[in-house]
Amino acid sequence: MAWRAERFLYPRTCAGSGKNILSIVAPDSSYQVFSNEYWYSDQWDGLNYGRDYNPEQPFFEQYYKMAVAVPRLYAFAFQNINSEYSNGSQQNKDCYLLFVSDRNEDCYYVYGIFACKDTMDCLNMDKSELCYECIDSFDCYHCLYGWGLRNCRDVYFCYDCSGCSDCFMCSNLRSRQYCWHNEQLSAEEYQKRLAGYDLGSRRVLVGLETEFRRLAQRAIHQYAYLVKCTDCTGDLLKNCKRSLNCYESYDLIDCYNLQVGVDSKWCRDCYVAVDQCELCYDCVSVVNSYNCHFCIATWHNRDCYYCDTCVSCHDCFGCTGLKHKSFCLLNKQYSETEYRQLREKAISQMQKAGEWGQFFPAQYSPFAYNETIACDLYPLTKEEVLKRGWRWQDNLPGTFGKETVKEVADNIKDITEQIIKEVLVCQNCQKNYKIIPQELALYHKQGLPVPDSCFNCRHLKRWQSRNPRKLWTRQCDCRETKHEHQERCSNRFETPYPSTKLEKVYCEECYQKEIY
Ligand SMILES: [Zn+2]
Ligand SMILES: [Zn+2]
Ligand SMILES: [Zn+2]
Repeated sequence: MAWRAERFLYPRTCAGSGKNILSIVAPDSSYQVFSNEYWYSDQWDGLNYGRDYNPEQPFFEQYYKMAVAVPRLYAFAFQNINSEYSNGSQQNKDCYLLFVSDRNEDCYYVYGIFACKDTMDCLNMDKSELCYECIDSFDCYHCLYGWGLRNCRDVYFCYDCSGCSDCFMCSNLRSRQYCWHNEQLSAEEYQKRLAGYDLGSRRVLVGLETEFRRLAQRAIHQYAYLVKCTDCTGDLLKNCKRSLNCYESYDLIDCYNLQVGVDSKWCRDCYVAVDQCELCYDCVSVVNSYNCHFCIATWHNRDCYYCDTCVSCHDCFGCTGLKHKSFCLLNKQYSETEYRQLREKAISQMQKAGEWGQFFPAQYSPFAYNETIACDLYPLTKEEVLKRGWRWQDNLPGTFGKETVKEVADNIKDITEQIIKEVLVCQNCQKNYKIIPQELALYHKQGLPVPDSCFNCRHLKRWQSRNPRKLWTRQCDCRETKHEHQERCSNRFETPYPSTKLEKVYCEECYQKEIY
């Protein structure tokens, strides 16, 4: 994961065309970058950087010496319109600071969202519109501060609700309307109470958010979110079969230790394996690839080992930046017979050196640890990172001390167009940030206050609200006397809710009996 940078964009120039671009590769890294157009063009060839393999030297060292000379793809953003501030993105239109998200329109400050519109500050959403501060929610319209919502509308501060509309501070509800703290109200009473809150005030929202977090903790928790899954463990899985310890994935078959997988089978130990990957092992960011091992960012590849950013290649070993190539080793072209012999030689040398079967060492990553998804999932301090011999980025993109206003007005009513011209300062990390016109229009439209912290702090707060991607064995916490079990249900399960946490975590049976 230390080889997957996602959310930090640096201004750079394409080493081929000279065009200004925003790149995930920092200007102070050893790598040059190419824009999409240049990288995919015939104006350069990765084979020109090829080297002879030397069996006397450690393989990773030779690979690194070669790879560092090969310009990298600037980011992973394809077919977007007017959405330069993004990465891991495809087919988005008019979006800003959008990451790992596809097919959205007018969405800002989001991560892991698909087919959404007018949505801001959300994490892991699907087919939703006008949502704000929602996490792991699908098919929603105008929901604010929701976790685990499905098919909801005008729902505020709700946890694990489905098919609901006009509900406030509720949890575990199904197909309800006008509920307030899980109490049924009349439409009039509901509207009256709602009108009593000024959601345009940041102070009010922050207070409600704190209350909501307490409510979410007290709610009943399904041991894991597994929908239409058979014989699976993990969390946030849909339509998966026989997949263990997998997270945030759908349509998996026989996968193990996989995060962010889509329509893949027989894959193991991968982070992002999508669009019909098969037999991939120990890979990161692989798309439609077959039988690839220890690879990074490969599309439509098969039978590759230790390759980084290669497209439509087969039978390559220790290569980077290649397109439509085969039988290459360290970016050098061989005949099929030569390749197979050399490959065997390299593997046996790597086995002796203890390199074979290991992923590329993190110190050779083009990214500093704190630029990558590894740091989001497994945070380490700068000292811990340096002690391991990995890199740390002291100058993440952004400025400090350039603010033109110290504090943003609490209420949206007091915010004018002027704020677009100002430079603001994050109350959490002191980094500068700005408000863009489209964003301000949405705050006005929805009557929401302007945030007083930067996107990175807002994103990390949401990110850290979720369970870790790890499983604990727990016993069902249900003590409902009306259920057909002992004083406490004896069912045990694998759950991402840490056993040290006090939430009520229920087995499937008890959860279904209580909620539906
Ligand atoms: Zn901040
Ligand atoms: Zn139970
Ligand atoms: Zn029970």
